[in-house]
Amino acid sequence: MLLLRFTESKKISKHITSYGNLGNENMKNDLDELIRELSEIYDADSQDMYVTTYINKKALDVKFLDQRERACKLLLKGEELKNFGNTIEETKEFIKKNTGSNLAIFASDKHNFFKSILLPIELKNALVVDSSPYIRPLARIQDEWESFTLVLLNSNYAKIFSVSLGKVEHKKNLSKDIMNKHKKGGCSQARFQRLRKGAIHAFFSEVEEALEKIADKRIVLAGPGQAKIQFKDMLPKHLNERIVDLIDIDIDDEKELLKESINLISEREEQKSHEAIKQLKEEILKDGLAVYGIEETLRAVKNGQVELLLIEKNCKIRGWICENCQMVKEGAVKACLNCGKTVSEVDVLEEILEFAERTDAEIEFTDDEGISNLGHIGAILRYK
Ligand SMILES: [Zn+2]
Repeated sequence: MLLLRFTESKKISKHITSYGNLGNENMKNDLDELIRELSEIYDADSQDMYVTTYINKKALDVKFLDQRERACKLLLKGEELKNFGNTIEETKEFIKKNTGSNLAIFASDKHNFFKSILLPIELKNALVVDSSPYIRPLARIQDEWESFTLVLLNSNYAKIFSVSLGKVEHKKNLSKDIMNKHKKGGCSQARFQRLRKGAIHAFFSEVEEALEKIADKRIVLAGPGQAKIQFKDMLPKHLNERIVDLIDIDIDDEKELLKESINLISEREEQKSHEAIKQLKEEILKDGLAVYGIEETLRAVKNGQVELLLIEKNCKIRGWICENCQMVKEGAVKACLNCGKTVSEVDVLEEILEFAERTDAEIEFTDDEGISNLGHIGAILRYK
């Protein structure tokens, strides 16, 4: 049933979109939306052809595109060649207009389809011709660059940043005049401390209010001394739960903080994939909610059972897909084993990834040798 829904949403008459103006705070959302949309593209027509291009602004060699273009033109014929020729022209024009940017472009002239996204991260140059858009590099970015909100604060000053895809954006400054720690005369010491505490509390409430509006799913609190801990303790549960780390750092040490928080995210990412592998192994040992290897994982992902998909980084597996009956298998055949129609050669891992993206499964790329021993792919299931 699931498959039916995907096929319906596929028929698009006109589709030209550019995502992600650089520095756009919604870049992460754009990326999520684009991956989802691209993963839903496939058709019963095995003649479908999409050209996917990744451009690394630092490593763009003019010859790269020409060489790939020539190689593809040698292999394509008739309608396909025509579609490729038109698509690549459009793609090259776009690249020219956006010189100096990291880009991902997904296009098919035949389908009047052109989508692009500007990326803040360098990827390997690639030009891939396939029956559907090649989304794996995008999915890896999505996995490896968690976005989060960073709050640098002490008792009278706060600065809020949003960190998305490794880029930092300053969102808000808050500050308040708070009485000095030591009273200078006037009221009694006890009364002075009460007033001071009240003023700090009022300031923290302001910061909380700001966070309420702009905070990401994950929050990192930073700053000197106890202020961040007091602040954390007064946050309501739904915000408190989102705090993933506390960083002890001087209030003026912004540069160091930004560096450290980005490192923190990549450490968290490593930790996450480590834990996912551990969970996968445990589930397999107790014959629980897990599958591994191409065949089982593919079946589970097609059924929509997959909660978390684990894929080996930098691994490809030769296989084929029948666009007619959606059969995917490892190896090489002349015709579909199920319905006898023509098949297209694919990377089976990419196909599984696309199925997973369509069903909102979480995706984790890993280079843990555990996954390689289990057949390069595995999944933790929602149900069995
Ligand atoms: Zn078939």
